[in-house]
This record gives sequence, C-alpha cells and structure tokens, in this order.
Amino acid sequence: MFTPPPIARERLPALLAAMPKAELHIHIEGSLEPEVIFALAQRNGVALPYADVEALRRAYAFSDLQSFLDIYYAGASVLLHEQDFYDMARAYLAQAAMDNVAHAEVFFDPQTHTARGVSMETVVRGLHRACVDARAELGISSSLILCFLRHLSEEDAFATLEQAMPLLEHIVGVGLDSSELGHPPEKFARVFARCRQLGLRLVAHAGEEGPPAFIWSALDVLRVERIDHGVQAVHDAALMRRLAQDRIALTVCPLSNLKLRVFPELSQHNLKRLLDAGLAATVNSDDPAYFGGYINENFTQVFAAVPQLTAHDAWQLAHNSFAASFAPEGQRRAWQDRLVECFEAHARA
Ligand SMILES: [Zn+2]
Repeated sequence: MFTPPPIARERLPALLAAMPKAELHIHIEGSLEPEVIFALAQRNGVALPYADVEALRRAYAFSDLQSFLDIYYAGASVLLHEQDFYDMARAYLAQAAMDNVAHAEVFFDPQTHTARGVSMETVVRGLHRACVDARAELGISSSLILCFLRHLSEEDAFATLEQAMPLLEHIVGVGLDSSELGHPPEKFARVFARCRQLGLRLVAHAGEEGPPAFIWSALDVLRVERIDHGVQAVHDAALMRRLAQDRIALTVCPLSNLKLRVFPELSQHNLKRLLDAGLAATVNSDDPAYFGGYINENFTQVFAAVPQLTAHDAWQLAHNSFAASFAPEGQRRAWQDRLVECFEAHARA
C-alpha cells in the first residue's frame, strides 16, 4: 500500500485539485446551471415559473431534500430533445475534466423525463453521445447509471427498465434516488433482482436522511455494491464494521450534506470519522449546480473545514474512488498509478 510523502497543509488545495479522481455520485440533471436552464427554456419555448436567472438562483435557498427536489424537477422540465441531454452532459464532463476527473459514473433519472413525454431513447442517446465525444475530445472516461425514482412505485420502475432494455449496452448499472424518507430500499427488491440478473451493476442512495436500517436493506435486500451517501452509518456500530469489512464504498457528498442540512456545519462532517473507521469513503458533488460546487470544490471545502483531514486522506479518497468504480480492473489500476505519480510529483515540487 502506498504511503503518501508528507505534504504541507497549505499545499493541500493544489494537490486536491490536481490529483486524478473518479466521480461516482453526480446526477446529470443536477448539473444544470440556472443560465443553461434559461437558455434551454428559450430554445425549446418552455415557460419557467421564474422571471429570470437571478430569481431562479434565489429559489436555490431550499432547506431540505424535498424543497430541493421541487426546484430540481422544475429545472429538468426544459430538457426535451436529444441535443438538450447531449449539451447538459457535455457541459458537466468538460467541468469534470477541468477538475481532473479521470472517470465519471453519471446518474440520470429517466422517469423525470419519460413522465413528460420524452422517450428513453432520446435521453440515453443524447447522454451517451456526450460520453463518447468527451472521451475523444477531453480524454475523460464516463459511463451511465440509470436511477429509479424511489417516490414512484416499483411497477413504474419495472416499466422504466422495460423501456431501457434496447439501450442497455449504454448503461453500466442502476441506482435508486429521490426522496428517501418513507421509501425504504426493499420497496424495489424485485426490480433490483431483475437488474442483477441482467448483469447490471447495482448502487442505491441510503443513509442520507434515512436511518442505518436503509443501508442494511440496500446491502442485504437489494444487494448493491456501493452506498450513495451512507453518512448515517455512524449511528450503527455493527453496520460500520460490515461496511469496513466488505469495503463497501460510500459516495459521500459534503456540500450536498451541508446544503440539505444533514450536517449543520461542514466542520461537523463525519468524512474523517468514516475514513478512520476503515470505510471506503469517496468525495463527490451530487447535484453540483444546486449545492454550491463541483467535485474539486467539495474536496477543498471539506478539507478546509475539517483540519484533521490529511494528504494521506486525500490519496485514500481518490484511491477509493477508482477502486469502487465499475471500470475494468486494468484501467482502475492505471488510474491509481497516475494518482501515486501525482502525489510523488507534489512531494518533490
Ligand atoms: Zn444523490
């Protein structure tokens, strides 16, 4: 195991920005900046319930998951054509490449769009084309994860899977997102079992606002490979041991947790505690346009707020992100080697 050379604390922000990393928890619809929402609304002739970009930005002062989701769905209403999905994903991937993201596993919420009459094919083809072009033009690798909206029924999730069947070659896995409270993972047991049979990789949001019990059922009932968020695991010692033992990755999103008041202050975030307990935590942006920053902003702000986080933690977080990705093993190792080279170069500089 690589031990990073000592690096002075004041040089951490530059290192955090420069180090190669994977982003494993990004909702592509949550990368829509207010300016883009207004431009797409104009292009598509969609009326928005906000007078201008500033009014929309002001509406971002939401206070919990549900009030955020209300604005999120309003923003997504401007997406109608394949080109809209392409433009959205291309903009995110350009930003991610600037943040030295080597690989992104991008969530999308097809039900948000199919419920408005936009076809699954329009959504997936637009997103996939952006992934292909970004790889060729920016050198960033990416794949797509289809998320089921947990506030809708399992029947709706099955219908969504059915629509995605002809497009599965473009989809690496499935996830579960949207309002957690009142919608435990086991509600989707059968649809996840079916996805598993189809060879899809499985992840689920659990333990963001919801209890540790939801993390247990995501692992044992849905049989997911990663937990999205998972920060509530600290309230259950047996669960912490299980997550550490099985090296189940947690895709932690510090600025999202701050904005949705999962933690009142970033300085109280439990990222360091998760790492010290041996959990495979990672840092991600969740819905960067809404929560105040992309992945590097998440890294720099949480490291600034929690002074106990060290260069070793930075390396561990990035190393975990590659280890937990669904990319082929040879590729994961190549990225981890680049990560070590980056740390050695920073120690010499
Ligand atoms: Zn999320």
